[in-house]
Amino acid sequence: MDKGLLIQKIKDGTVIDHIPPGKALFVLKILGIDENTREIVSFAMNVPSSKIGIKDIVKVENRVIGEEELNKIALIGRDVTINIVQNYDVVKKFKVKLPSEVIGVVKCPNPSCISNTSEPVSYRFVVVDGRLKCHYCGKIISKDVEKWIVKEDVKREKIK
Ligand SMILES: [Zn+2]
Repeated sequence: MDKGLLIQKIKDGTVIDHIPPGKALFVLKILGIDENTREIVSFAMNVPSSKIGIKDIVKVENRVIGEEELNKIALIGRDVTINIVQNYDVVKKFKVKLPSEVIGVVKCPNPSCISNTSEPVSYRFVVVDGRLKCHYCGKIISKDVEKWIVKEDVKREKIK
C-alpha cells in the first residue's frame, strides 16, 4: 500500500509522481494549469516516498496530457514518473525525458535577447549536455531552471 496516497485515486487522467519536493507548483506552471483550468487538479507536496525520500504529486483528472508536454517536466526533475489512468487502472507509465529542444516554457535570462523583446519569437532553447542553451543568444542556464519557467501562454499572448 502506497503510504503517499494522501490524495484520492482518480478514475481517469494523468498522475505526475516523484516530483522533487516543493516543485509541484512549477509542474502546474509548465502544464499551463491556472485559475482558468476546468479540470479537477489535486496536488500534494512533501509526501513521504520510499523511493526518493520526499516527493510532490500532481493529479489532473479527465485529461490525458500529451507526452511532449509532459516531457518538459524533466526540466525540474529527471525522476518524474507519469501514470496515465483509465478507469482506475494505470494503462501507461513512463519516466519523463528531457526533449532536445524546449520551446515556450523557459524565459531567456538575458534581458537583451531577442526573445525578450516585442519581436514575435517564442522562447526557444536547445538541450546541450542536459543544460539549456538559448537558440538566439547562446545564453546557458546551468542551474535553477525553475526560476525562468513562465506560464506556457505568456509568450503566446504577447504574440497576438
Ligand atoms: Zn536568449
